Amino acid sequence: MGMPTKGMNREDVIAGLREMQQGDLPIGDGKAFGFIYAAGEAVDEIKKAAVTMALGANGLDPTMFPSLRQLENEVLDIAREHLHGDENVVGSFTSGGTESLLLAVKTARDHARATRPELTRPTMLLPETAHSSFHKAAAYFDVEAIEVAVDPETFAADVGDMRAKIDERTILLAASAPGYAHGVIDPIEDIGRLALDHDLLFHVDGCIGAFLLPYLERLGDEIPPFDFRVPGVSSISMDLHKFAYAPKGASVVLYRDAELRRHQYFACAAWSGYSVVNSTIQSTKSAAPLAGAWAVMRFLGDEGYLKLAAELRKGTTALVDGLRAIEGLKVLGEPQMGLVAVTAADGVALPIFRLADRMQERGWYVQPQLGYGNSPRNLHFQIEPSNAANVEPMLAVLAEEVEALTGESDSAPAPLVQMAAQLQPEQVRLRFGELMAMAGSTGPGELPKERALVNEVMDALPAETRQELLKAFLGQIYTP
Ligand SMILES: *Cc1c(COP(=O)(O)O)cnc(C)c1O
Repeated sequence: MGMPTKGMNREDVIAGLREMQQGDLPIGDGKAFGFIYAAGEAVDEIKKAAVTMALGANGLDPTMFPSLRQLENEVLDIAREHLHGDENVVGSFTSGGTESLLLAVKTARDHARATRPELTRPTMLLPETAHSSFHKAAAYFDVEAIEVAVDPETFAADVGDMRAKIDERTILLAASAPGYAHGVIDPIEDIGRLALDHDLLFHVDGCIGAFLLPYLERLGDEIPPFDFRVPGVSSISMDLHKFAYAPKGASVVLYRDAELRRHQYFACAAWSGYSVVNSTIQSTKSAAPLAGAWAVMRFLGDEGYLKLAAELRKGTTALVDGLRAIEGLKVLGEPQMGLVAVTAADGVALPIFRLADRMQERGWYVQPQLGYGNSPRNLHFQIEPSNAANVEPMLAVLAEEVEALTGESDSAPAPLVQMAAQLQPEQVRLRFGELMAMAGSTGPGELPKERALVNEVMDALPAETRQELLKAFLGQIYTP
């Protein structure tokens, strides 16, 4: 490929792009129960218009582009009100849930450096169900993650275990509202009390739930308080590119007050170029997601979101009831929004990852999740507006496939699983090719045709070995 010597005409460039996209997960056809947050054509249109208008602006310096300052303040104002924050609550617009969580942890670390300078090896307490981005933050910012158990039936964080693990190194408690894997909200009020008792910061990861849950509450669901109404909560992350239907690259992180947020900011005057002050991780940054988020919120308004939430709520009930009605499946915990994990019912032999493959062959995408801690391997279903109406047909196919696969075994041959299970994490890089070939990969960067086999092998490995395998694979798909 390489750079074309002469520029191409517009039609050919666009055609090339379109052709590449043919192989992607279809967007908006309502058959993918994951990854996609589509709220219909009208929302897409306004998003496109706003994104296009903002493409040239540079978020590096909001004094040069006052529109960006105003857009961000208006979005944050909505977010603060949505999460019942008082006028002291402040925040930042970020590029996504991961950046919001990275910043929350970085803020906690720098707050600790300022207030507890004697502390050299800070830790944060993370329930097993806490999003991987907390671990990314741990790795990036050198705050050790200490794992907290979750209840094996409810999948909510075990507050007793968290209490027991607080020590002189702890700087931050974390919880989810809800966790991505099971859609379960952690005991936020109890953890808030813990944070107050021990004078600790407490971050609530509302990346996926914080925008939607207040609407579900207004529609009559019993949602335990998870936001700034809860004493002890010091920061909350809330993605706008999920259930606020903003373009990707849109999230907010909010803090109880400006004194805490101060530790998030970065300034640099120690070089020969322009003075730098950044609220978030990026410096030169696109204004497109911010303008897109702002525009969608104005376009849909509170009533629009409430209506979409009502559709989602109906879809969720149908999904959860339908999944519970399928013999051979078991829903994990009590999902509080449309994020549902199902596994094989007790005593039923059902190769759950093969089920995911079968569904995909029949045009339905559901996400396999590996077993971890108290959570067994499972399939994850997420409802968004475009598939709320597709629940029944999906369930019908699922029921057929569950019946067909019940009593069958996994696809991974035992020797392969054994060999993989004996691998030390540091051996993975050397033996990756061999392992992939055994799994049926036809060449570097090619996933074995049977995804189930890959998931089954991964499922048998400790997290550290899984991580090495994932990185080895990534190193192969990005070739230059
Ligand atoms: C999606 C998600 C995140 C991470 O957000 P990204 O936008 O993918 O970076 C964090 N926490 C939870 C609970 C999520 O669902």
